[in-house]
Amino acid sequence: MVSKMSITGQKLEQIFELLFERFAPQHWWPGETKDEIIAGAILTQNTNWQNVEKALKNLKGAGLMSLEKLYNLDQQTLAELIRPAGYYNIKAKRLKSFLKWLFEEHNGLLAEVETINTQNLREELLGINGIGRETADSILLYAFGRAVFVVDAYTYRIAVRHQLIEQECDYEQMRSLFEDNLRDDIKLFNEFHALIVRTGKEFCRPRARCENCPLVKLPHRLED
Ligand code: SF4
Repeated sequence: MVSKMSITGQKLEQIFELLFERFAPQHWWPGETKDEIIAGAILTQNTNWQNVEKALKNLKGAGLMSLEKLYNLDQQTLAELIRPAGYYNIKAKRLKSFLKWLFEEHNGLLAEVETINTQNLREELLGINGIGRETADSILLYAFGRAVFVVDAYTYRIAVRHQLIEQECDYEQMRSLFEDNLRDDIKLFNEFHALIVRTGKEFCRPRARCENCPLVKLPHRLED
């Protein structure tokens, strides 16, 4: 059978395979329930995951790790509990905005939200105060199982350095790079994003550590 995959698609598949071979499955998103995944996606903005884990642990320890309980919790108490995640007042406000949308627009029912088609759901999420593209797409992919590719700073760095896209591209162009050139596969999108994050943390830092990186054999160009 003749493959219909684009050249870019082939390059992306090759990157995925090399990363998967080196790192194995990453088992993302770390979270036991959809409620926890959503809370984690909002809390992880501008901080590392270890700090998010501490905040989630506080919520669990207080018996509050459910969206309904968080909805009924006052914002100040919520802010104190999530303090380890940093920017805790802002993040408490963002969580509350999400919860207000869920409970006032959708009766507090994730099951109701799950009936909305992906494009409309993405627009609704992006309409919530403080929910940006990366957070919305993380929620769509990891909580709602939609085939949406999550783009972050690591995705930019790796894709640009491997000359898959121009540096000046915006979020939507980067998202299209992956979504238009890969097969529509939620598991692939899930794993690929997680592997990119791992590569970015360990190798593709602002000062690249190409020598031992799984992608070193592929053509790449560092910034001047
Ligand atoms: S560290 Fe080097 S080889 Fe690895 S992804 Fe970045 S640019 Fe590519």
